[in-house]
Amino acid sequence: MSEMKFQLPRGTQDIFGEDISYWQKMEEIIRRQCRLYGYREIRTPIFEHTEVFLGENDSSDMVNKEMYTFKDKGQRDLTLRPEGTKGVIRSFVEHKMYGNADMPVKLFYLGPMFRYDRPGKGRYRQFYQFGIEAIGTKSALLDVETIALGYAITREMGISDVVILINSLGDEKSRGDYTKALKAYFEPYLAELCTDCKRRFEQNPLRMLDCKVDKDRPCFIKAPKCQDYLNEESKEYFATVLKGLDALSIPYRIDERLVRGLDYYSNTVYEAVPKDDDGQQATVFAGGQYDGLVESFGGGPLAGVGFGMGMERMISLAREQKALPVEEERLDVYVISLGNIGTYGSRITEMLRKNGIKTEMDYQGRSLKAQFKSTDRYRAKAVIIVGEDEYLSNTVQIKDTADRTQENISFDRMLEKVKDIICKGEGYE
Ligand code: ATP
Ligand code: MG
Repeated sequence: MSEMKFQLPRGTQDIFGEDISYWQKMEEIIRRQCRLYGYREIRTPIFEHTEVFLGENDSSDMVNKEMYTFKDKGQRDLTLRPEGTKGVIRSFVEHKMYGNADMPVKLFYLGPMFRYDRPGKGRYRQFYQFGIEAIGTKSALLDVETIALGYAITREMGISDVVILINSLGDEKSRGDYTKALKAYFEPYLAELCTDCKRRFEQNPLRMLDCKVDKDRPCFIKAPKCQDYLNEESKEYFATVLKGLDALSIPYRIDERLVRGLDYYSNTVYEAVPKDDDGQQATVFAGGQYDGLVESFGGGPLAGVGFGMGMERMISLAREQKALPVEEERLDVYVISLGNIGTYGSRITEMLRKNGIKTEMDYQGRSLKAQFKSTDRYRAKAVIIVGEDEYLSNTVQIKDTADRTQENISFDRMLEKVKDIICKGEGYE
């Protein structure tokens, strides 16, 4: 055997074999549910100008520590996208999608994201996110719709025990008051906190609550709660969101310390986690409303709401719960060719494929026995056997693997017979 020369970069993975069936199934579910909820696909570039992700004084780890940023040969500053929202907003503004569309504009994306994260369970450096954005309308029930869509996909994936952690950061005014209160509260403790928290204290004290290092300190547990700083309007808004979730029987839990990893959220923020997550950090989808983001991209004062879903985590949960029926599809026809028959086997195979029949053949000139073994492995519904006699008489032997009957028929009648066998075999195992 030759020696392996190359390995995957750290934090990446190859997806193939049985795994691919799960990925395709998940993508199928996502596409169907998005169609039902009225979200259309958008594909933005995998890299953007670095400024797209930077924002003003962003305090998130993602922006400060995790971006794959590089200069191209033209000295442009570019970054592999670490998340989906900002590219979508850039595109929304650039193409003036607010122009003549019905609001909100509802979009979904699906593809690889890149973060220089610490690799571990459910944590990669290249990972796949599916996400949605509903842009241009601010409505508590629209927030609920986004959660409902994420939840519907989770359920259809067979993941039954997910709960939505939810919180409200309030509108700009409430959030401002709360930020002030947090700053005043944390000031005396600053010296004992981690360096990240010291930075967050300056940039966005809200984000301190999201700290994975300090979160269990007594001073964190006793910190002011953002619910106490919501003004009337924000309170009412949040109450409507919760009523909406009740109406759709979506299980949720208010989590007052939930602030989310990104800087641009307002009002509703949420995370979907497995019920028994106990600090596993297995959040499967997470999002919220972002009031100022579109405007900061030069697009007018439009609100938006959306989430990002980690596809690796969804798939690993679905596999653990064994609830997603992913089964290798059976083969319709295997063509066994024997002896000196030129291209006869290839012609049969191609003709069947052209007629929508899933067909395989042997390319190695193996023995009859070996070719029959392949037939079993593929669980073919029908087998076509051709040797010199069949070739010369323009016929085929065709075998129904269900009842094991075999007959010799003319090439012209082959397709009809194959279709008979396949229809009959439907549901047969
Ligand atoms: P965390 O606090 O766990 O780092 P985050 O706040 O950085 O999460 P988001 O930016 O909200 O995560 O991303 C949305 C979703 O994408 C997450 O809930 C998770 O399912 C997934 N995700 C985020 N980072 C990774 C990663 N490095 N590998 C795999 N999936 C990820
Ligand atoms: Mg992160």
